[in-house]
Amino acid sequence: MKKIAIILFLCLAATVSWAQKAGTVLPSGASHKGFFTQQEIPDDVFRRMQGKSFAKGCTTKRSDLRYLRLLHCNMNGDTQVGEMVCHRTIAAALIDIFRALYESGYRIERMVLIDDYDADDERSMSANNTSCFNFRFMTGSRTRVSLHGRGLAVDINPRYNPYINKKGKVSPINGKAYAYNRTSSTLGNVKDVIIRRGDICHRLFLKHGFVWGGAWKSLKDYQHFERIEN
Ligand SMILES: [Zn+2]
Repeated sequence: MKKIAIILFLCLAATVSWAQKAGTVLPSGASHKGFFTQQEIPDDVFRRMQGKSFAKGCTTKRSDLRYLRLLHCNMNGDTQVGEMVCHRTIAAALIDIFRALYESGYRIERMVLIDDYDADDERSMSANNTSCFNFRFMTGSRTRVSLHGRGLAVDINPRYNPYINKKGKVSPINGKAYAYNRTSSTLGNVKDVIIRRGDICHRLFLKHGFVWGGAWKSLKDYQHFERIEN
């Protein structure tokens, strides 16, 4: 009898943790307990990151990173479990921002670690995945680490808020339709997640000291918010 009880308990525990995996849609009215929290990078998360976002030669210390458990409204308006790795200095700000976005019903399609896409930025962006930490050096440099590489920059709904480089190349490729056509009424419910100056997403990040890549002149990075000063 005791054995059966233990097995049942283990099954239940497994079901609960599975049900709360990032990407899971929660039933309406589900408890928010355990979300909007930060912790040092747990071993199981670090195993997912190693050789991917935490690449070989990573100069950012594991102890400087934090793992966030979040909730967000997906494109259907359902509550979905999200996760993020960021620098410890912006963890509290991100929790405040994503809680406010969630409570306002702001839609974010997906929020899982970029490691689920083998830390491939194009694949993660194409899947419209919102993410933060991904160690890499800046283009053309072997010593300067990008702000994503330090966990100090966040990309929001990247497919609908693409990056346009100085030559006009759009990333991700499937975001092309949203690179220049950013006000049209033909955008349907996507128009609600097109980041614009003064909207709730822009206001929240700026309130917490972030800079928006959509305001840059030489290139446009509509998905991108970064905070350098700590
Ligand atoms: Zn970015």
